[in-house]
Amino acid sequence: MLVGIDLGTTNSLVACFRDGKAQVIPNRLGKLLTPSVVAIDEDGMILVGETAREFGILHPLSVASVFKRSMGTDRVFELDGMKFDAEELSRFVLRSLKEDAEVFLGCPVDEAIISVPAYFNDLQRKATKRAGELAGLKVSRIINEPTAAAIAHGVGGNAARPTADGAAQGVGVVCVEASNEDPVDERCLVFDLGGGTFDVSILEFFACIMEVHAIAGDNFIGGEDFTDLLATMFCARVGVARILLDERTQAELMKAAEIAKCKFSESEKVTMTCTINGQMHSEDFTLDEYEQSCQPLLERLRRPIERSLRDADVHLDQLDRIILVGGATRLPVVRRFVEKMFHRAPEALVDPDTAVALGAALQCGMKMRDAEISEVVLTDVCPFTLGTEVVAGNGTFEEPGHFLPIIERNTVIPVSRRQRVSTAHDNQSQVVVKILQGESRMAANNLLLGEITAAVPVGPRGAEAIDVVFTYDLNSLLEVEVTIVSTGETTKMVVQNEEHKLSDEEVARRFERLAYLKQNPREDEANRLQLLRGERLYEESTGERREIIDRAMMEFDRVLNRQDFYEIEVARERLRKFLDSLEG
Ligand code: AMP
Repeated sequence: MLVGIDLGTTNSLVACFRDGKAQVIPNRLGKLLTPSVVAIDEDGMILVGETAREFGILHPLSVASVFKRSMGTDRVFELDGMKFDAEELSRFVLRSLKEDAEVFLGCPVDEAIISVPAYFNDLQRKATKRAGELAGLKVSRIINEPTAAAIAHGVGGNAARPTADGAAQGVGVVCVEASNEDPVDERCLVFDLGGGTFDVSILEFFACIMEVHAIAGDNFIGGEDFTDLLATMFCARVGVARILLDERTQAELMKAAEIAKCKFSESEKVTMTCTINGQMHSEDFTLDEYEQSCQPLLERLRRPIERSLRDADVHLDQLDRIILVGGATRLPVVRRFVEKMFHRAPEALVDPDTAVALGAALQCGMKMRDAEISEVVLTDVCPFTLGTEVVAGNGTFEEPGHFLPIIERNTVIPVSRRQRVSTAHDNQSQVVVKILQGESRMAANNLLLGEITAAVPVGPRGAEAIDVVFTYDLNSLLEVEVTIVSTGETTKMVVQNEEHKLSDEEVARRFERLAYLKQNPREDEANRLQLLRGERLYEESTGERREIIDRAMMEFDRVLNRQDFYEIEVARERLRKFLDSLEG
């Protein structure tokens, strides 16, 4: 039997497709959500889900959570002295879901479609697949979470009609019916705020093909931050220094804050109660005051949305639907924020917690070629920019070590792009084409995946043209072909070395380290600020916009190198105004 699994950062779900319906399967506790938490008890027994979470409050050293963030990395989690990686911890969760499904369906479950965030790279997808295999599941497909959510909301024609069964079981919406209606072409934005991550995706459904057009997100913001904020507000009210609380009290405080936060969905005023240092405290909070304190968090949600719209080249009012996914979108402050930003009420027709699992189950129906469901073809995007190193300049001024993007991030794959470059020096007898991955405008800050060396006829600089073709396929294989135009000589290389692919965290670490090590006049703070802004805007942009930022930054670099204080001030002000204009 084939099932759909939403392996979430905070909670996981399993769903199946039966009798023309996608249905979430309740776990052994009769609940739809299984917390993605693993613990080891005193007897060395593995606990999963709510039990593990409960155990963990008292035994913080024996529990692991939010490990999905470390999927595909070497990070080791130590539980009571035993070491696990994220893949292994996920395996325990998957195994528990598999068992629940087997009991519910009354048959062996041996195959699964598992959802992953759209930004997951190949390494993270492979780790997810391996976790499934470790749990005894053949993972026949990995589906992007926003795509699954959109399918559950009826994008692609399989209209989501919450059925009565869910309410009858008293556990909310557990089923959606497939409808096989004529699909409508539409464009939607999926706003997914889970416990620990925020993802925005822009999808287009056109002629039965569902394409992810752009993905953006923030791996370090989610519902937990909104809980944490309420916990901090509570401590401030009762006058205790949060930092001085022991781990156990911290866990209890977070639990109390979590309960109070969820009550905001039903009431504009909530009471939070928690015992600290033997004394019970109770405090009231209004939605308005909480919303005010949430502003900095809400602001952090804005940037990925703007970036995804820019990457997809879509304006707010060209979106047909705004779909909310993830438990934290239940929070009224988040809904109000979405409503204000998009000038319309977002859709949450299907329960935001179950949408992804239901979509994965509908995909199971498509895979089983169920007659009651219409097929949607899914496509993927390349989540990072791939390119090469060049000498940049305008004839009078030259700067080596520049990154030339060839396949920009969010390009729909499979894709093949050609770029013509030329020799950079007089009497050059060979060219070295570097294959780079990353978002920095300087090649050295990006990840070197490989290089191709090819002989060129000796001549003056610029005399020889070289065609570089990057081809990126659905299996995340990058093939690079270098052709010396005058001789027709071609050299090819296939980049497969996944060990060297960077995770988001590695990229961040690398940038931090590089920024720290830089020691030149740029350390001057005002200059540094504009340089950092320029770098960020460059990374947030694509295409022509990138080029103009690159030119402006090169111009500023040039002035900085001349070390003329007055000139630097004028140039910095010019750059600041330019960057202001870009940020609108
Ligand atoms: P997910 O990762 O999608 O399971 O989302 C988990 C997050 O949703 C957690 O941070 C929860 O606190 C949050 N959440 C769940 N239900 C509610 C609710 N009714 N109101 C506010 N936040 C909620």
